[in-house]
Amino acid sequence: MVAEWLEALPRLRQHMGERNFATWIEPIRCSKDEKGLCLETPSRFFQEWVTRHFMSAIQRALAEGGSAALPVRVTVAAEPQPLTPPRRPPVSARPSTTPRPVSRQPRIGRLVPDYTFESFVVGDANEVAYQAARSVAETPGQRFNPFFLWGGVGLGKTHLINALAHDVLGGAQPRRLGCLSSETFINTMVGALRQDQMVGFRERFRDLDVLILDDVQFLAGKERTQEEFFHTFNALHEMGRQIVLTSDKPPHAISDLEHGLRSRFEGGLIVDIHPPTPAMRVAIAVKKASMQGIELPLAVAQTVAERSGSSVRELEGALTRVIASALLRGLPLNEALAESVLAPVTRPRGIVSIDAVQDVVSQQFRVSVADLKSHRRTRSITFPRQVAMYLSRVLADASYAAIAEKFGNRDHSTVMYAVDRLEAKRAQDPATNTLLRSLEGRLRLGSAR
Ligand code: ADP
Ligand code: MG
Repeated sequence: MVAEWLEALPRLRQHMGERNFATWIEPIRCSKDEKGLCLETPSRFFQEWVTRHFMSAIQRALAEGGSAALPVRVTVAAEPQPLTPPRRPPVSARPSTTPRPVSRQPRIGRLVPDYTFESFVVGDANEVAYQAARSVAETPGQRFNPFFLWGGVGLGKTHLINALAHDVLGGAQPRRLGCLSSETFINTMVGALRQDQMVGFRERFRDLDVLILDDVQFLAGKERTQEEFFHTFNALHEMGRQIVLTSDKPPHAISDLEHGLRSRFEGGLIVDIHPPTPAMRVAIAVKKASMQGIELPLAVAQTVAERSGSSVRELEGALTRVIASALLRGLPLNEALAESVLAPVTRPRGIVSIDAVQDVVSQQFRVSVADLKSHRRTRSITFPRQVAMYLSRVLADASYAAIAEKFGNRDHSTVMYAVDRLEAKRAQDPATNTLLRSLEGRLRLGSAR
């Protein structure tokens, strides 16, 4: 080992604290050459983390020993490669007729086949979480134990732990893995208690190489389960087995969590996952569609990304509605269709009155409100009337019957027909879409009436 490095270590340990030091500094191998100090880390994730978080502490510790001028670089050891795709058996080892093997299932719990690292879109919001999950999958039990992943609902935690599990099971080394929700853990334990089978329960869980528990916030307030899990956790941890946990909040914010368990959760690597950026949302829409064999036009992906709620789950829901609508109605999958499908549910409803709609439409088409309400069937009146009915439905959120009444006491099926027709026309015809958008904009701005 290099003298300057050895000399700086005690100060670093003091600056960084015992836990960080053990996790991030002890595994580093230091060498010295003509370019300065070379700190070799075990993986790319490790390299990025050390560079981002500890570089200044390292430089400070070196400077305090008089080695300020020494350039420091952080590298990755040649072996193992952290970012390689999951190892699969070589193609020649399988008969060519069999499809790509589905990855093995865990001993406890089940995995979602589609939740893989390949189907996960990576960006600023989740890069650290992704890299950490890959790193854990590469060398379970050796680093980052436990690995605690937290973040809001629908941001990809369950996806990432499934991906991690697929990789562990698909790896060269056979590993016993359990991947289950905390609710399942609780129910399984309660069942075992009732049937007096706790010995078997403990054996099953303590026999695992990797235990993944999703949504541990559900353990809150469940004292008996927490106690049992605490013992399982300790048993596994002592044997160097990997534990992975997810939660919608960080350990310290989980209320009614027993102190011992909380400090265990805090004893490893804690990483949070953030809501995706707009660009990531577009990429996710495209990827999810392509997994259904659909090539999503960029404009549609953008509309879906913009017009859906903040979580990825809501984004997926919006995408599914748009695709289903195109398939069911036999319409082209374009921006106008996406607008027409997503606009009514996401925009604020009920603030625009039917009277206001009639006013604005009458101005736009230069027909009187009386004509809109009349039963005249001239084309110059029927189209504006349909537009007004459609906008009443979308913006005023009124029932068909209520709209029918406001349009000269018609039958409500007339309104239903008008709404359907406009929706279809909007999806097919960009000009109609533009017109409706501008009317919607005007009505929403001046919706005081
Ligand atoms: P959480 O467990 O955090 O509540 P999930 O893992 O269930 O969220 O994610 C909700 C949905 O969003 C899943 O269908 C998942 O595949 C998808 N998802 C979330 N983040 C991404 C991402 N970065 N790339 C691809 N799909 C994602
Ligand atoms: Mg989840």
